[in-house]
Parts: sequence; structure tokens; C-alpha cells
Amino acid sequence: MEKKLGMRPRLALPVFVLVCGLGATALATYLINENLRFRSRERLKDATSQIGRTIQSRMEAYVALLRGGAGLFAASQSVTADNFRRFVERLEITKRFPGLQGFGYSVRLPADKIGALALQMRAQGVTNFTVWPAEPPREEYHSIVYLEPMDARNRRVQGYDMFTEERRRKAMEDARDLGNPRFSKKVRLMPELENGDASEPGLILYLPLYLGGQVPETKEKRQEQLQGFIYSPFRAGDLFSGIMPMSRVWRGLAFSIWDGSEPKPEALLYRSHSDFGLDARYDSTVVQIPGAVWLLGVAELPGYKAADGQQLLWAVPLLGVLASCFLSYSTFAEGRARARTEQTANDLFGQREWLQVTIGSIGDAVISTDRLGRVQFMNGVAEGLTGWKLEETKGKPLRDIFHIHDEKTGEEMDNPADRVLTTGATIHLSDNTVLRDQNGIERSIDDSAAPIRDRQGNLVGAVLVFRDITERREHERRSTAQHAVTKVLAESPSLQEAAVRILTALCETLRFDFGLLWTYHGQEKRLSILNVWHAPNPVLNRFEEVCRSHTFGHGAGLPGLVLETHEPEWVIDFSRDPRFPRAAEAEKAGLRTAFAFPIAIGSEIFGVLEFFSRESSPADNELLNVARGVGTQIAQFVRRKHAEEAIQELNQELEIRVERRTAALLESKEQMEAFSYTIAHDLRAPLRAMQGFAHALLEDYTERFDASGIDFLTRIMGSALRMDSLIQDLLEYSQLSRSDLSFKAVSVQETIENVLRAHEEQIRETKAEVKVIAEDSSVRAHPATLENAIGNLLSNAIKFAQADEAPKIQIDAVDQGTTVRISVQDSGIGIAAEHYERIFRVFERLHGQNAFPGTGIGLAIVKKGVERMGGSVGVKSEPGRGSVFWIELPRDSEQPSI
Ligand code: ADP
Repeated sequence: MEKKLGMRPRLALPVFVLVCGLGATALATYLINENLRFRSRERLKDATSQIGRTIQSRMEAYVALLRGGAGLFAASQSVTADNFRRFVERLEITKRFPGLQGFGYSVRLPADKIGALALQMRAQGVTNFTVWPAEPPREEYHSIVYLEPMDARNRRVQGYDMFTEERRRKAMEDARDLGNPRFSKKVRLMPELENGDASEPGLILYLPLYLGGQVPETKEKRQEQLQGFIYSPFRAGDLFSGIMPMSRVWRGLAFSIWDGSEPKPEALLYRSHSDFGLDARYDSTVVQIPGAVWLLGVAELPGYKAADGQQLLWAVPLLGVLASCFLSYSTFAEGRARARTEQTANDLFGQREWLQVTIGSIGDAVISTDRLGRVQFMNGVAEGLTGWKLEETKGKPLRDIFHIHDEKTGEEMDNPADRVLTTGATIHLSDNTVLRDQNGIERSIDDSAAPIRDRQGNLVGAVLVFRDITERREHERRSTAQHAVTKVLAESPSLQEAAVRILTALCETLRFDFGLLWTYHGQEKRLSILNVWHAPNPVLNRFEEVCRSHTFGHGAGLPGLVLETHEPEWVIDFSRDPRFPRAAEAEKAGLRTAFAFPIAIGSEIFGVLEFFSRESSPADNELLNVARGVGTQIAQFVRRKHAEEAIQELNQELEIRVERRTAALLESKEQMEAFSYTIAHDLRAPLRAMQGFAHALLEDYTERFDASGIDFLTRIMGSALRMDSLIQDLLEYSQLSRSDLSFKAVSVQETIENVLRAHEEQIRETKAEVKVIAEDSSVRAHPATLENAIGNLLSNAIKFAQADEAPKIQIDAVDQGTTVRISVQDSGIGIAAEHYERIFRVFERLHGQNAFPGTGIGLAIVKKGVERMGGSVGVKSEPGRGSVFWIELPRDSEQPSI
């Protein structure tokens, strides 16, 4: 958009120049054309008058020629034909006087002398000379006697009386009367007249000759003394075309000559061109010739180059247009060049501005120096950080205004610009650089300096860029302090041990000279010193003593104040503050600013940290936040330590309790064992007695009992038997819990074979089909327990068969790498999924004794036994379709896995 707007004024001037140029061209063309026309007209005028003069002078020459002839007659009374011929011959008239048809003499004769003339002429050899026309008779005759050159044409005219023809006569009379030469009006010359050719106009110039040779003074005397006429006939065409040989100047001009002063068609004597354009420029003049006036008309023929430059007239507009275009283009080009220059200048100016604004507005301080390290420029930030103004420092050596030292060592540091100017390399200052400004205020800065080079790479100065990192350094110090505290707390078993390290870390990083940790004793509601840190200094030792002699209650002293408020307290001028009992001692120690904050979490306070500094400085929010954070951190530590102590106490208590319980358990276990033993031995003995006596009754007293008596006896025996197996199973189960089982590698295949053998009878009776698919693998197990477990599963598989169906059983053993899975699958009644867990518990049965007899302990024994051997058991079943019971035992590791 801007560009477009910018184009318009740039085009306006070239367009204006073009328009002006074209206007000027048009005007110039017009003026030049006008000038040329004017000059042409002038030139035509010139040509016309020149031609007029030429005609005039030529006519005068003819007159002079005739006068010459007159002279001949004046000199001699008897001019013979020969004399005349020779005279004319000498004149070379045909050569020198173009258009002149002849040079003649006519004599005036009275009527009576005609005969004598004829005789005279004949005597001179003109044999057939007569004066003609003879008719009508007249008083005087004017007969042509001599006419040279005497060619056939002229010979025919000899003797002719020109007085007989009106126009000739008029001219002759006028010439005679005035005594002057005289041209006749336009006549037809004799030969042409004879030929009947009337188109060729003719003229005759007469010069009167008087007797005595002189021109008589009066008209009458002239009439009286007239001797004759010297005359010359002209053919107008020849005459004028001869007079006006086409001079180069006149080429392209057309001439017309009229007899008289009017251009009447009948008076036309000569016309050089039959016609010319009507619009042709035309000029005319009246030419005075002896005895007549002729009108001379001159016209420009088409293509007449009347004035130099006319032919170049076309070039004017062309050149003008070209020049205008060129000028316009030049203006445009110049405008563009100027615009570019302006643009460049603007750009440069803009860039300079931009650069200044940029440098001025960047957050970093910038100072540049010349080759000698003298300040050339500094931006506002640099002014702020150094405390100097650019105008005060310009030209001064940078080292006078830029004072830096190492934060840690306090040593003055070299001026970076000087270093750059000597080494030519970019440098970065150490992290610990501190700048002291004009007012002595110190700031941590981050600084780099670089050389400034010109296009040729010559070192012309240095630029210093630095920024105030005081805040960042402060921030770093504070986070360092926090980290240090965290580290100390992580490494310390108690606050007592952590205290000195915490005080040291905080004093060093936060730049305090003296630090104390007060702990709060809840019962006494007082703070007492846990530990103190300060730099080795006798004055501070004294202050330490004073502090150690103090304890503070709520609101007393600075620690008491913090205890009261639970907030950090910053006292800029502690040593002069009457609120504090240690103020005077602090002043003696040179400590001025004090800072204390609580070691607290929520409303619970564990102590107070107190610091002193020799410098008096204001607090800032960040430091207060850090203090709160550190205080909370230490408080958490203290609380955690308290909790840990409590846990430790609890643990000890627990241990005692466990010991007691274990003892009690052992006791009950022993009692249990004793009870089992009792059952095994003492309970079974009377049971056997019962069985034995019942058996004896049945065998020995059968006949004394009726059927129901026998039935009762049989039931007693059955119950005894069942009780016995219950006791046995229970014993076995409790045995499994108590006894120490020794494990060894047991062949699964062999175990299965043993089981089958033991159940041979049961299998046979029930017609069970037992299929074994067992890999020869061995497990770590107690052989009898394993055999018992598989036996139990097989026994169940046979027992829980579908009614009226021989059980189909498959025993698998699969080596699974680290374990071997032995499963017993049957086609029996199956178990609903909700009972899977239950059936492994003691006495849990799903059926009545009548349907399927049993004790409900078998699977419990399997589970216990397998688990004691480090294995696991499980079942998967579908009611009505059969069950799979499996046990999984650790594979014997000595046996290589498959
Ligand atoms: P018992 O066989 O003496 O009843 P167990 O502990 O061996 O006791 O079995 C508990 C119960 O689990 C059985 O009463 C029976 O209901 C169920 N049970 C065990 N094995 C099978 C099996 N192969 N098919 C169906 N039910 C079974």
C-alpha cells in the first residue's frame, strides 16, 4: 500500500516533463514551421524580384544591342546589307542573346521612294525585293530592309511594312514619338503567322533612328526626322526560357509573364509550367521594361525547397517527442535514483534510529568504546548501572567509570574493554563479577565484551554488554541456602547434629555474620540455645556468651517476638532498638541488622533461627519466603524425628508383645499336640473296645437279637468305624502341620504307579478306567505325602462318579519348567464353581453321607500336604461333566529341564 502511494509522486514529475516536452515540441514545430513559411515567402519574394530584375537587365541588354545597331547607322549614311550582316555577325546574337529571332532594320519611306528602295535592294543582291503589303496605298512605308541572320525564315519577312500591323505600328509610333526603345504588345511573329501557328506569342523591340543620328527634341521633329527602326523580334517562349536559365535557386519555381500589369489570359507571354497547384505559394511583380510593363508571376511548384530546413521539419516533432520521452525517462530515472537515495538515506537514518532505539530499549547495558578504550556510547541501562551519564563520560577512558571486582576474593578486576582491545578476542567475565557504581552501590553483573571491527576487519573499538544479575545471584544464593539445609537435614540423624551445619550454611550463603538456633521447650514455654555459629572473632565470642546466658519466653527479645508472632522478623537496626535486651551487646559486637524466623509448621513451633549481620540492609519478600520455607523444612524434620522416635518406641513395645504371644502360642501348640496324642492313643483305645465288643455281640449272640437288634449293632460298628477314620484323618492332618517333612527328588511316574497299585482293588470294584499320561519327571517332595495327595484325588475321582457309570479317569504329569503339574481328571458328577474354595477346607462336604460317604478332610489334607511341600492345588470342574484336580510342585532342580 505504502509503496503504491509512494509511486505516484515519483511518476508525476516524469509525466509532467513529458507533457511539457510534448507541448514544447508542438510549439517549436509550429514556430519553426511558421518561420520556415515566413522564410519561404521571403525567399519567394526575393526570387520574384530577382527574376524581375534579371528580365529587366536582359531587356536593357537587348536595348543596348539595338543602340549598337543605331550607332552603326549614325556613323554611316549608307549602311549596306553587307555592312549590316558583318555587324550582326560580330554580335553573335544567336549565341549570346537567346530568344532573339533576328536583328533588323526597317526604313521609313515616303510612297514615292518605294521604287528606288526596291532597285537599291535588288542592286545589293536581294533579287525579288518588294515592299509589302502593297495595299492599301499609304503616305509612308516602313519596310524591313535588313534582317539578320538572313535565313530562309527571315528572308520571307524582307520588305514587310510593320506599320501595317496595328500592335507593331503602335509600338513603332510610341518609340518614334518618345525617342525611346519600345517593346510591342504581344504579337504574332511573321513566320508563325504565315505558318498559321498562332500559339507562339512574339514581341518586337523597336529603337527609333532619326536623321542626323540624334533624337530630336520635340515630338513633331521626331516624327519628321524619323529614319527608320532598328528592331528585334523575339519569340516569347525562347526569350524567357533563355532569360531564366534554371538557376539552382529557382529550381522548383514556376514563372508566368503577362504583357501589362494584369494576369489576363490573352496577355500571357510565357508560362514555364503549364500548371501548378492552386494552393501553391505565389508572388508577383511588375517589371518595367523599355516602353512596357510586364507582370511577372512566380509560384512554388510542389516539392520546392523554398527554405533550408524545411525538409527537416518533420525531424523537429520527432526529435522533440524523442527528447521529451528521453527527458521524461531521465526525470523518472533520476527521480527513482533520488528516491532510492532518499530511501537509502531514510533506511540508513531509520536503521540508525532503529539501532539506537533497539540498543536503548534492550534490557542489557551496552557501552562501546573507540580503539583507545574511550567511551563512545552507552545506553540508558548502562547509565543506570554505572551511575554515569553518556554526556559526562563520552571520550573518557572506560576504566575510569567501570569498576569491577571479584565477589569472592574482593580483588579489582581488569577492565574488559582494555582486554578486548589488546587481545582482539571476545571475552566473558567470571560469574562473580561485582560492579561498583559511581555512588558506591555494588551489583552482581554478567558481562561480555567483544571487539568492533570495520569492513576491513580492523579493530576500531570494543563493545561491552552486561546486565544486573544481583537479583539472580541473590536468588541463587537463597536456593543454595535452601538446598544446603535440605542436604544437611537429609544427612543428619538429629536437629542437634544438624544445627551447626544449618547455621553455617545459612550464614555463608545469605551472608550473615552470626547465627543462632533456639529450641522451644513446650513445658517451660521458653526458648533456649541449641547451637551458635559465627566467624572466629573475639568480639563475636563475647556476644555468643551473652546469648548463651539468655533464654526467652513468649514476646521477650527477638526470638520471643518470633515465638509470639510465628512470623519472620527483620530488624534493620537491632543494636539501637530498645525492645531487645541484647541490643547493647550487639552494638559492641558491631552487629546491626537482625533477622529471625520460626521453625514451625502450622501452629506448631519447634524453635527459632536468628541471624545477625554487620551491614544494615532492608529485607525483601523473597528472603522472607525462603526463611519461611527453611523454617518449615526444619520443622518437618523435627516432627519427622519425633515421629520416628515414637515409632521406635512402638516397635519395641510390639516386639515384646510378639514375644509374649509366641510363647503363648507355643504353649497352646504343645497342648494341641498333647491333645492329638490323646486322641490318637487314648480316644482310639475305647473306640476299639467298643468296636470289639459290638463285633463279639454280633458274632456270639446273633440268635439272641432280633433283626432290629442286629441292625443297631451294625450301626454301632459302622459309627465306630467312621469315627475311627475321622480320628485317623484328623491325626494325619494335624501331623502334616506339625511334623517336619524332609524333601527329596521324587519320580512322579513311580509315585503314580504306587498310587494305582494301592487302589487296585477299588479300581477293580468300580470298574474304573484309569489312563496315565505322565512324563518322566521328578519333583522336590516328601514321597509319602505326595503319594497320599495323589491317592486322595484318585480316590475322590472314583468315588464321585456318575450313577450307573464306570468312572473314566486320566492322570497327567506335565513338566512346566520350574514346576510339574499333576492332574487327575474324572468324568464324574462335577462341582459348581462357587464350591471350589470350600471343598479344600476341613469337614467341608457337598453331599450327604448316604450319597457319598466320607469325612470331608481328604482335600484339606491334599492342600496342606502340597503347600507344605511348596506347591499349590486347584480344581476346575463342570457339574455333570467331570472335574480336574491338579497339584503343582517345584521341579527337582538337579534334573535337567526338558
Ligand atoms: P470326602 O471325600 O471325605 O467327602 P473330601 O475332602 O475328599 O472329603 O472332599 C470334600 C468334598 O469335595 C466331597 O465331599 C465332595 O463333595 C467333593 N469332591 C471331592 N472330590 C470330588 C470329585 N472328584 N468329584 C466331585 N466332587 C468331589
